[in-house]
Amino acid sequence: MSDATDVAVIGAGVVGIATAWALARRGYSVTVLDRDDGPARSTSFANGAQLSYAYSDALGSPALLRSLPWLVLGTDPSFRIAKPLSPRFWAWGMDFLRNCSRKRFSANTIAALGLAAESRLAMHALLERHPLEFSYKAAGKMHLYYGEASFPTALKVMDLKRSHGVHQEALTPVEAERIEPALGSVGDLAGVIYSPEDEVGDPHRFAVGLLDLLRSEYGIRSRFGFDVVRLSLIKGGVELVSNHLGSVRARHVVVCAGVGASTLIRSARLRAPICPMKGYSFTAPPGVAAPHVSITDTERKLVFCRLGDQMRVAGLAELGAWDTAVDPERLRSLVELAQSSLPDAADYRNAGFGWAGLRPMAPSSVPCITRARPEIILNIGHGMLGWTFAMGSGERAAALLQ
Ligand SMILES: Cc1cc2nc3c(=O)[nH]c(=O)nc-3n(C[C@H](O)[C@H](O)[C@H](O)COP(=O)(O)OP(=O)(O)OC[C@H]3O[C@@H](n4cnc5c(N)ncnc54)[C@H](O)[C@@H]3O)c2cc1C
Repeated sequence: MSDATDVAVIGAGVVGIATAWALARRGYSVTVLDRDDGPARSTSFANGAQLSYAYSDALGSPALLRSLPWLVLGTDPSFRIAKPLSPRFWAWGMDFLRNCSRKRFSANTIAALGLAAESRLAMHALLERHPLEFSYKAAGKMHLYYGEASFPTALKVMDLKRSHGVHQEALTPVEAERIEPALGSVGDLAGVIYSPEDEVGDPHRFAVGLLDLLRSEYGIRSRFGFDVVRLSLIKGGVELVSNHLGSVRARHVVVCAGVGASTLIRSARLRAPICPMKGYSFTAPPGVAAPHVSITDTERKLVFCRLGDQMRVAGLAELGAWDTAVDPERLRSLVELAQSSLPDAADYRNAGFGWAGLRPMAPSSVPCITRARPEIILNIGHGMLGWTFAMGSGERAAALLQ
């Protein structure tokens, strides 16, 4: 059996749902397809929940390059490279290393900053029209720097971004504590970068709420449990073939398949290097000194975020890991890192819900939003910041069809 639609969106994560919204507003008939059994069940499910519009810094940088030997040796508890390394990983890795120069780092960070700014505007425009409930708040965000070496580098990056219009401030530890008293327990801070306009929101509730709205008010269709195994170019469009639910024909397709994209687009003889970077989160009741501002501990590489009446903590990075199983040891190590960072931020004994997801990493940290063929648009590679970039990416992808 074959259905027909103007545009098929493959993937109902935050990027796919934001893309469907941008297409629906432009009057397209849209069908969203996903192999999961509901929206945002993969990487968009329980991520760090930060809308980090001011913190678009690319992962590949001269600083990362300098710490690479220690990262490869596995001496950093928050970072691992999964083994065995596949030929695809090596190809991605070489591309990533090319993006670690100072020049590429600056260019990538500024490119991502533009997308983040568009995302913020698009999110505000959506919420003005449809006030969705997803624990959304302009909480502001603080990045904590400990070493005397790392803070001056952070200040340079802040200056670069400020010259492109971002609102960030450098604070002393005392100034930061005045805004966020939960930092009182933190010793050895060298300085803090404060982004007062950054926001938070639950990506899963957002995707569920927006898809409901799109179905009821914009006539969008969705099919879950629909695993697209092949994209076949046909006369007048593309046929999306599933392994057991027939196929869907569309004039255009937008691929928003996260880490599943590289394999999928090969059937249309397209390539995009996406490497998974596994991360973990847990959600717990707030502790006696729970921050209201979102906190990123740059040394331990984790984020704290107050999401409604819960604390969400996310971190750890396992580059090249393809499985989403929650390893109890790794989850424990995230809880321990969080406890050593902000001991009273959460009720850690009742950290009930552990989760793992795969960040779809592009070598440049800049998402790939492109019309790869007249019928096929790619909206992939959103890495560590896909929730932040989703709304702007949806707008850019939809604009490519016009
Ligand atoms: C621990 C952790 C913390 C994070 N914290 C933050 C944060 O604080 N802020 C932030 O901005 N970002 C954060 N991220 C990154 C963010 O979660 C991702 O970038 C984002 O969720 C990617 O969205 P997506 O829609 O591209 O992918 P996904 O959410 O993975 O959606 C892709 C969808 O495509 C479907 N799919 C794939 N292949 C097929 C196929 N062949 N057929 C049918 N369906 C298919 C999948 O089932 C999936 O539902 C974090 C990630 C992790 C892991």
